[in-house]
Amino acid sequence: MPRSHDGFAMMTRNRVFLLLAAALVMQSGGALAYKYHPYRWQSFPVTWYLDKSGYPGSGMSLEQLQTALTQAFDLWENAKYQGHCSAVRFAFGGTVDANGNIPDEKNVISFVSMASYPGTPDSLGDTVVITDSQNYVVEADIVFPISETRRLSVNPGAEEYDLVGIAAHQIGHFIGIDHSQVPQATMFGVFPSAGDTSWGTPESDDLQAVTDLYPGSCPEGGDSVVADAPSDRQASPDAGPGGAASRWSCRAGRSGDVLGAWVAVVFLCVWFLGRRRHA
Ligand SMILES: [Zn+2]
Repeated sequence: MPRSHDGFAMMTRNRVFLLLAAALVMQSGGALAYKYHPYRWQSFPVTWYLDKSGYPGSGMSLEQLQTALTQAFDLWENAKYQGHCSAVRFAFGGTVDANGNIPDEKNVISFVSMASYPGTPDSLGDTVVITDSQNYVVEADIVFPISETRRLSVNPGAEEYDLVGIAAHQIGHFIGIDHSQVPQATMFGVFPSAGDTSWGTPESDDLQAVTDLYPGSCPEGGDSVVADAPSDRQASPDAGPGGAASRWSCRAGRSGDVLGAWVAVVFLCVWFLGRRRHA
């Protein structure tokens, strides 16, 4: 029965195609859809400070650190997506004596020895946000846990992590953007490998997030553009209550991809068995 055999072969090919398509969708997390935290900054510019101890052992001066971190802030400040610009603005306030997450009403970036850091051992960056009862940010600190083996650099070698890209990710949390499911996005929840500088370039998912959450006027003039709120964006289910300190910690590695692959395998097995039962 060649016809039915051909039909079966065609169905099998279609199944394989659907399996691959489903796997791709599962792996990429579906549509472009950024997520956001419940808190917002009420006004700009937001002033940030650098801990005066800098990044010990890196060879970088405070001025060099300030330049690199300003580059990361600028990625969000200069964001433009489909003609929409962001209202976020930052100002450097100088150096202060505040190493770690210290509630002092100053937004401080510091580099803390991993040996004395209370965060997760495999974290590359932590952002701790304190909000008021209306979910406006009162203070946000960014901490980079450092060690001899976990090094950040503006020009990363094969064993180093990209300081600007990782700072850009943490600043995303700082302004209220949660982890994206788009693997190429700066706000993807799993850090790229050592030496990978791709996070220093925001993807459309990141740009849409900041221009949606903080719509502003574009520097080239013209009227203030208010971005349309897309229907596919989501508030994070793990959103903390107002008035509480919330912590977002980010890790190195590729565990997210492995999890996505296993979810895809389970999904495909269920789907395939369901098709067989109905055949
Ligand atoms: Zn993160």
